[in-house]
Amino acid sequence: MSDARTVLVTGGNRGIGRKIAEEFLASGYKVAVTSRNGEAPEGAMAVAADVTDPASMDAAFTAIEAELGPVEIIVANAGITKDNLLMRMSDEEFDAVVNTNLGGAFRTVKRGITNMIRAKWGRIVLISSVSGMYGVAGQANYSSSKAALVGMARSISRELGGRGITANVVAPGFINTEMTAELPEKQQKEYLSAIPAKRFAEPEEVAKVVRWVASDEAAYITGAVIPVDGGLGMGH
Ligand code: NDP
Repeated sequence: MSDARTVLVTGGNRGIGRKIAEEFLASGYKVAVTSRNGEAPEGAMAVAADVTDPASMDAAFTAIEAELGPVEIIVANAGITKDNLLMRMSDEEFDAVVNTNLGGAFRTVKRGITNMIRAKWGRIVLISSVSGMYGVAGQANYSSSKAALVGMARSISRELGGRGITANVVAPGFINTEMTAELPEKQQKEYLSAIPAKRFAEPEEVAKVVRWVASDEAAYITGAVIPVDGGLGMGH
């Protein structure tokens, strides 16, 4: 595509974010990927940036704009877990997860919207989790941060919906990544029995939904929560 749109995927060096970046690349988009270690799939512009640091995100945007042009699609995907039962959860464990998952999305989107407003076109996709709506024991920090992304997307939709900008949440369930591989086998079996689709998903199944919700075809979808969870979170 000569008039290919520019996409930024935060946390795109591995896992779901990497698949999202690869999906956009395969569809002909110009793709920039940020992560703390600065790696990226082949064909993407790699930028080392920490979503908890506004100066580093600002520098990343400036570098991407210089090389690929204004960012038109933001996929706020960078995220961490620090699970613990509430009684044992430290302030550090709570703050680190909220600051990365929620604060990181805020900083990324805040830096990116000026160009979208100017262009009267933009797509913001926040990667949440079924955990945010469903609740998971041991994830008071993570679930809170992921649920809050729904409020963020809906507020952005009300602020910027009239300017050709959409803001949506994609909420994956259990996806085959490093994050889920670390779960004990007993826990994996319990989750599998609760998932109507009776399987975990592959990261590409999330990536294709993200690519579509960022397309022109999805112009009238905003403030939505799109589950990719095999039915696990139905009704939540
Ligand atoms: P991974 O742990 O494989 O990848 C997380 C990504 O986030 C990495 O690229 C990491 O890069 C980046 N990241 C973490 N902290 C920061 C930071 N401070 N600044 C910049 N980048 C950062 O996770 P997944 O691929 O599994 O998850 C991706 C997203 O999907 C997350 O938001 C997660 O919560 C969500 N999700 C995952 C599910 C799953 O089953 N795996 C289910 C539901 C939601 P680096 O460490 O190099 O900085």
